[in-house]
Amino acid sequence: MPLGIYISVPFCRTKCSYCNFASDLFSRAVFERYVDRVCADIENAPQVAAEMGGQMERAVDSIYLGGGTPTMLEAVQLERIFATVRSGFDLNPDAEVTVECAPGTLTGAMLESLLRCGVNRVSLGVQSFVDQEAAAVGRLHKRTTVLEDIARLRAAGIANINIDLIAGLPHQTAESWEFSLAETIATGAPHVSVYMLEVDEDSRLGRELLAGGTRYHAHFVPDEEAIADFYLAACERLSTAGISQYEISNFARGGFESRHNLKYWTRSPYFGFGVDAHSMLFSATPDIDGVRFAPADSLEQFMSTAVLQRTEVSRRAALEESFFLGLRLTQGVRMQELTTKFGEAAIGNARAAVAEFVNDGLMQERGDFVCLTTRGRLLSNEVFERFIVADEITR
Ligand code: SF4
Repeated sequence: MPLGIYISVPFCRTKCSYCNFASDLFSRAVFERYVDRVCADIENAPQVAAEMGGQMERAVDSIYLGGGTPTMLEAVQLERIFATVRSGFDLNPDAEVTVECAPGTLTGAMLESLLRCGVNRVSLGVQSFVDQEAAAVGRLHKRTTVLEDIARLRAAGIANINIDLIAGLPHQTAESWEFSLAETIATGAPHVSVYMLEVDEDSRLGRELLAGGTRYHAHFVPDEEAIADFYLAACERLSTAGISQYEISNFARGGFESRHNLKYWTRSPYFGFGVDAHSMLFSATPDIDGVRFAPADSLEQFMSTAVLQRTEVSRRAALEESFFLGLRLTQGVRMQELTTKFGEAAIGNARAAVAEFVNDGLMQERGDFVCLTTRGRLLSNEVFERFIVADEITR
């Protein structure tokens, strides 16, 4: 099975107040050393795979540069990363090659560099088409910047564009959310990701919300119920516009589903390089299903050590993952396929959980598939937890 390759570039122009990723502002002097390290890791991938006990294909059918803001790198640095991937792996001619861009970072030189690298998909971190909302969380672009970037991408031949939106930004209202959705649809972008604002200790806005404070416009964040309504409105508006939901947070026109991201939810192998870049490979030994490994999640630690955190995925853990990752997909999971792979005895408890959720209106059966209902998608974390618990009881 061809691999997906993920490369993390943890550099940003500003730190958005809601961001809980391993990204930050660093001096440009660090960029070159980081690219050196990532390229060395790419060259060393077969050896790492063997040390981790994983099978590694040379064939690759997706590359995803995320972060962070990969377009912060110099064009020559970006091209060095791609050249290293191409010499270490066999990139399929029709591979999906995505780069995440912050609107306003696509200079002419960068656009030309993306084309030279074979990039055919760009993901734009728009978050909102309302300038006040984008500014409140520290985004540097305006609505017009996004529209100009999209026009320039199309003119350059990159029409496979994703727009990221966040439901729950400070100052967002039902009307302003509707405006962002309408603008998104009007761009004609074939892929849209809609995330609900995450409130946790890992972002400045999240910490302020948990503390009940007013910094970072925290007191202008819509309440949970409103955010859930925004999400439901997005599902409806996008689907009416022909951009169908295929995963909890992802929507696409037919044929534009993200090949790379689908690997995560279908448990297909991928190799990650860079800060906090996770990998999942099938196991080289038959007694375990797979191996997951990841380097340090801070730039400082990443640059100072090559140690990887390794986790073996047992057959039982693989079954759990099949449920809580597969159920993220609108189509859900195919029970017969899981029964064939893991055996009837192993999925007995999961069947009981499915029956309960169907009864509660959180899941439904569609032929051989079981999937979340609209309400189930809103309460997905609770559903997923139950699958792990239901399964762990038997351990
Ligand atoms: S641009 Fe993206 S990765 Fe960087 S701080 Fe903002 S949300 Fe985080």
